[in-house]
Amino acid sequence: MSENAATTHSPVSILAEHERELAEGVYQFALDEIAAKSLAMDRDNVMDPALIRKFFELDLMGIEIPEEYGGLGQNFTTAIAVIEALARVDAACAVCVDVQNTLFNNAILRWASDDLKKRYLPVLAKEKLAAYALSEPGSGSDAFALATTAEKKGDRWVLNGGKLWITNGLEAELFLVFANADRSKGYKGITAFLVESRWKGFGKGKKEDKLGIRASSTLALSFEDLEVPEENVVGKVGEGYRIAIETLNEGRIGIGAQMIGIARAALDYATSYTKTRVQFGKPIAELQAVQHELARMDMELECARLAVYNAARLKEAGLPFLREAAIAKLKASEVAEMCASRGLELLGGYGYVKDYPLEKLYRDAKIGKIYEGTSFMQLNTIAKDVLRRDLKA
Ligand SMILES: Cc1cc2nc3c(=O)[nH]c(=O)nc-3n(C[C@H](O)[C@H](O)[C@H](O)COP(=O)(O)OP(=O)(O)OC[C@H]3O[C@@H](n4cnc5c(N)ncnc54)[C@H](O)[C@@H]3O)c2cc1C
Repeated sequence: MSENAATTHSPVSILAEHERELAEGVYQFALDEIAAKSLAMDRDNVMDPALIRKFFELDLMGIEIPEEYGGLGQNFTTAIAVIEALARVDAACAVCVDVQNTLFNNAILRWASDDLKKRYLPVLAKEKLAAYALSEPGSGSDAFALATTAEKKGDRWVLNGGKLWITNGLEAELFLVFANADRSKGYKGITAFLVESRWKGFGKGKKEDKLGIRASSTLALSFEDLEVPEENVVGKVGEGYRIAIETLNEGRIGIGAQMIGIARAALDYATSYTKTRVQFGKPIAELQAVQHELARMDMELECARLAVYNAARLKEAGLPFLREAAIAKLKASEVAEMCASRGLELLGGYGYVKDYPLEKLYRDAKIGKIYEGTSFMQLNTIAKDVLRRDLKA
């Protein structure tokens, strides 16, 4: 095996040939069309709308949507590989595509009626950005404490309340909104609604000014007597808590992919930098201390990557993957932060300024430990599994 083949970060067992080809094509697209815009988008806190249109043109917004609805008809792992490929260049673009595929489309494909699928899957694949609206000011980790209500009036549901932290919120036209349709039933009243932002009573509020993934919009939403036709309930009334839990379990693997993309970008840049930075008369990559830093980053990345694709394959095979998805997200977000931090240090002062990519990677990595369930929540999930084990077996 050549030296190059040994350093592709792509063990042959992880991706099938067609999955790898697609991911490599997406990475090339990201280098050609996103890389040059990434710093300005980060500085200006905005995503270039032309890029979102491009994601649709390239069929990246409906990766698992069947071809009959205009999607790419590919598997979950392909979506994960695409998210990783985008995150190697821009983590904000990666999460934009991630939310559409692993949260919104996923929920519609799995839970929505045939009528909703016919009406919305083609536009999700080709045209309209979507967002997933669960969190509220008073409910984050405790998502089921949500206060948004849904009241049935004739053939409509009337929603009142608001959401916070909604990724893609600025540009999205379709929202999966979770509201409680019967508070007397507690979390079993939570119901999912497919909502169009053009409907009366739907308000878009403050856009957050964030530490990282700044090109990804994060918005507050408000609903004032927002009327939703009853056919736009996703799944059954009262089934929203299951939809929320199960889509987030899958979505977490996407965040893991975003994080390994960041880690990989940090390792790649730090490696090439250390080969050219000369101190004490030779490239710093010749110093064993530096080599060990790179080796440790590579080892951690390999572990995180295997965890992410393992969880993806388990989900795809219909096998239990709850613990593995939690491990994938937890590990990948720790590794992203570690690789970005160590990579930054390997650039010395150059790592600390915006002219070099490590500063942004370091900021972008932080979100992995927060959204789609904080690291503590992932540890809770893993601990439950550990404690349930029959140690005599
Ligand atoms: C940039 C960004 C984008 C986001 N995008 C979306 C989106 O698209 N849609 C959406 O619905 N939400 C989104 N979120 C919300 C995100 O999922 C929540 O921020 C996250 O779940 C944490 O909730 P919280 O912020 O309310 O923190 P809290 O739940 O208040 O947590 C605060 C701290 O307490 C800890 N904690 C809380 N409960 C426990 C527990 N039981 N055990 C141990 N520790 C605990 C947490 O780990 C954390 O350290 C986004 C958030 C951000 C910052």
